[in-house]
Amino acid sequence: MNGLKLAVAVVACGLAFSSPASDGVSDLQTAEAVDPGIYAEVAALLQREVGAQLTRHLQDQGRLRQVTVSVVVNPHKRRMIVDFGPGYLPGNDQNYGELFLIPLAGDLRRYADQAGLEILDVQFLFQGRPMEAHFPEDHPAPRAPKSRSTHTQALVSASHGYIALHPSRAWKFQRPAPLGLQEDVLSPAYGDELQGLLEQRSGLAVHRARSRSTDLHPESSHPWEQMSSRYHLKALLPERADIWNALPNSTESNREVKEDIRARPNYANHLGVDVMLSLHTNGSDASSVRGAEVYHHRAKPEDKALGDSILCGMKELIHAQPGYESFPVRAESVPDGHGENRIGRMPSVIVETAYHSNPEDVAALLDPVFRTASMKGVEKGYRLWAQGKTCEPLAGQSIVDVDIPSGESREVDVAFAGHPQFPISLVTSNTLCPPGWGCNGRTVVIDSPDQPSRMKLSCGRNSVGTLGWETHVVDADGVKTQPVPHTVRCVAVGSPDVSALARNVAGLAQ
Ligand SMILES: [Zn+2]
Repeated sequence: MNGLKLAVAVVACGLAFSSPASDGVSDLQTAEAVDPGIYAEVAALLQREVGAQLTRHLQDQGRLRQVTVSVVVNPHKRRMIVDFGPGYLPGNDQNYGELFLIPLAGDLRRYADQAGLEILDVQFLFQGRPMEAHFPEDHPAPRAPKSRSTHTQALVSASHGYIALHPSRAWKFQRPAPLGLQEDVLSPAYGDELQGLLEQRSGLAVHRARSRSTDLHPESSHPWEQMSSRYHLKALLPERADIWNALPNSTESNREVKEDIRARPNYANHLGVDVMLSLHTNGSDASSVRGAEVYHHRAKPEDKALGDSILCGMKELIHAQPGYESFPVRAESVPDGHGENRIGRMPSVIVETAYHSNPEDVAALLDPVFRTASMKGVEKGYRLWAQGKTCEPLAGQSIVDVDIPSGESREVDVAFAGHPQFPISLVTSNTLCPPGWGCNGRTVVIDSPDQPSRMKLSCGRNSVGTLGWETHVVDADGVKTQPVPHTVRCVAVGSPDVSALARNVAGLAQ
């Protein structure tokens, strides 16, 4: 790892880098001029790190093989290409290498971030060609999407759970818990939250990939709710071994992990749902890595819009909660190679709500306020995407300044951008009040989007003067706009009654 740290330090000096071994990847060359000596060292260090990880991975599988690796970074396209030479092409029986390649992509994104390079897309090539070019049968061309307005059903797949190792049949959780938070046990509660929201707000029938029963699974003696989807589906659909027992001849110890990854989208296909939302928490060897991320499959680029909308919804809802105003939420869905997203014949994304390897994220994941807000964000992002709406944050627009004759009132519009959850409140407070006047703010509740977003401003009898107000909109989920300033001039009607002026009240009518 020392070598990699050196690479990061060099790149942090502002140097971009590129590998000469980029044949067949014509759009990936980095244009920046770099010192050839440093360039060669940096490229070699990254390539060596990837190569070392691959060698260890192959050794774990009982294979001793040296595989050449080339790395090309294109900061302008926020892309890194890792090209493996002959000797490494994980196929269907290896779930296309996802258990190795996805964590590796996460490491490479992190190293790039540390170097000040924002890399969204880490793409793996195998002798110059992407996985889908080697295995087109399992990476079908995108289908014409079903009209989103006809969506009726979703599969919510909350990640992992116990699996049996092969051949010992020892039962293990699938994920590490470096800070004591077990993703396998936590995520079903997030699934419950999302299921309720999808039912209430999106009007969908929601299926679940894992059991929520607390009864014991007979073979393992663990509660059903802690078991992986694979065993739940085996009990539910015993005759459909193709769904939950896709690798019956594999001799690998983690074959049921690989089967479980496939079982969830296989079930989504079996049900024919319109969307599959997989809920996970993320993990990294670096405890500093944190925040919410969403992934779609790179062979289904049309799913990126769903992922982006979900991140937009999560950002708005999470940031609206006190204490979570700066919780990191990635701006864009990341293309990657998860089988969970690939196999489903419907829009499919993975939501990594936060990192179970970061202490602040763990505290958030255990907080019911964060759980509700993050899942409200997922539902909102899905719903806006399904309705063909662009997710945009709730933002107040300008409010007109008005002149109001004493003793009268005027209605003014409180316009906003965004898609708030109704009922919304228009909250007005005073910022400028003439001496001796009583200037009282008010809150107006608007029950539905069919009702005009409007409030009434009034001037007391015989009151002449200028009042300052500011108004913000807050929705049913606690999402707020910034306060918008506006003024009211109370103007004279005829001659003012001076004796009444001091005791008059100017303010907002109900
Ligand atoms: Zn997970």
